[in-house]
Amino acid sequence: MIKKILIIGSGPSALSACIKLLKEKNIQIYLLDGKDLMNIENSGCIYSSTHEGSQSRYKKLFKNNLDNSFKTTYKDAPKPSLQFGGYSTVWGGAINILENDYEEYWSVIKEDINSLIPNFENILEISSNSDKYLQYQTQELPIVKREKKLLERLKKINNKKLSSDFSSIAMSTKIDKNICQECGEYTWSCKPYSAWSSHSLIKKLVDAEKIIYLQNTSVYKIEENHTDNTCAIYTDKHKKYDLEFNKIFVGAGAIGSSKIVLNSFEDISKIEIHTNDLISVPSINLSKKDTKLHTFTDLYIKYKDNKSNLFSQYYGYSENLLKLSENAVPLVKYIKGLLKPLLRYSGGIFLYLDQENSSSFVIEKEMGELVIKKGHEPKKRNLFPSISTFFLILLKARIICLPFGKWRKYGTSNHFGAQFSFSNETEKRNKLNIQSDRKGRIKKMKNVHFIDSSVLPVLAPGPITFIVMLNAYRITEEAISETKI
Ligand SMILES: Cc1cc2nc3c(=O)[nH]c(=O)nc-3n(C[C@H](O)[C@H](O)[C@H](O)COP(=O)(O)OP(=O)(O)OC[C@H]3O[C@@H](n4cnc5c(N)ncnc54)[C@H](O)[C@@H]3O)c2cc1C
Repeated sequence: MIKKILIIGSGPSALSACIKLLKEKNIQIYLLDGKDLMNIENSGCIYSSTHEGSQSRYKKLFKNNLDNSFKTTYKDAPKPSLQFGGYSTVWGGAINILENDYEEYWSVIKEDINSLIPNFENILEISSNSDKYLQYQTQELPIVKREKKLLERLKKINNKKLSSDFSSIAMSTKIDKNICQECGEYTWSCKPYSAWSSHSLIKKLVDAEKIIYLQNTSVYKIEENHTDNTCAIYTDKHKKYDLEFNKIFVGAGAIGSSKIVLNSFEDISKIEIHTNDLISVPSINLSKKDTKLHTFTDLYIKYKDNKSNLFSQYYGYSENLLKLSENAVPLVKYIKGLLKPLLRYSGGIFLYLDQENSSSFVIEKEMGELVIKKGHEPKKRNLFPSISTFFLILLKARIICLPFGKWRKYGTSNHFGAQFSFSNETEKRNKLNIQSDRKGRIKKMKNVHFIDSSVLPVLAPGPITFIVMLNAYRITEEAISETKI
């Protein structure tokens, strides 16, 4: 019998489920997403003066592509993306694999999550100079001497709490030496879709009729029928969709999935979503000046002591990176002429904080509405000793961190989740936590599997998306084997 499988979402976790399901026989794959497929502009140079940054990766997420149905008790409360392709249409493409420091949280999952990487080799172009990826098909990311020297210096520092390596980026294209006539940097770096996104791949699968796309459909809640083992979706409080499914994989992102859970279970009134806060710090790299021709992150530097686990991404200066920061810090526009000789030595550090030292937020049911409220607020002063020691160590590698850093609650990269963690460790500390099992199921759900960052055991600081994709693949593999029995 042909089984009907539904995937909710079109972001990276949903694509992972698709990749696994496409290898299966006797199933029909259905996919729906909050927003319809859109013609997002995908050609031209995003830094060209004629566009004035209007096509920038960071600007593509317009207000009307966010879920504005939430009530909030404060300004700038996070909202889920309802854009086809999810947040991967605006992300930075930085990837990381599961690190030893965090393996303990995954203990219930016996399988090595990193062993699933080869399943993504033809899906995203991993671009990295790190030895971690040597066994996989990768391409090199051009790193200028300035940053290479910096990494050499960092590696020479004898401190067990410190580790560093080249960054890894998921690209949509092959890296070559072609230079854009408009911005003067690499053409593979200045296109709107330079960083990999799930958007175009899912669109191709829809066009090739490999998956059935249910247009203009957003999920309000899911209902399971335990007698005939089917799942139904509602597109509104009382509006049941006329198809039923044998299994559902939910990849609506941490907030989107929480919303579906709150609407599906009467006895769940609150969900606390963990995040990674971010401190952005401008810096001077005294190694040497150089000309970097792309805007991706070059290196990462990690520091772990008994109070914190810090993950920093280092961005060496490039002209286009300066244009991007003009949007964020308007002052830069006026002083850049004055600073140009100095800027060639400069860079920036994005310091991601671990879940324990970061803010959380709560989604709560209140008189039939979902309200976003502030959750845990970390005490900043607890982290100061670790951060200042880290900055002093960086000074040994000749990086001066300038005192204009900004602490950004929840970060800017939407590293949200772990609210349905399957790790017992997190459960002990968090009374609000709703635990999932190893197949991403919560409460009494049998055939509804959450596959996005909601079911990560913990939010490790640094890039989370590739780990989410590997975990989504694992859950789909384990869950689909049940339907064959
Ligand atoms: C500016 C920025 C930079 C980032 N940089 C990085 C980076 O460099 N490295 C990294 O690892 N991560 C990065 N991230 C985070 C990364 O984008 C997310 O981790 C990733 O997109 C999560 O994938 P997902 O599939 O779980 O969810 P999403 O990408 O959020 O996709 C969810 C999908 O579900 C759909 N949806 C939501 N609700 C419903 C509903 N009720 N019904 C139907 N469909 C629904 C949405 O339309 C969307 O398509 C960045 C994020 C941002 C915003």
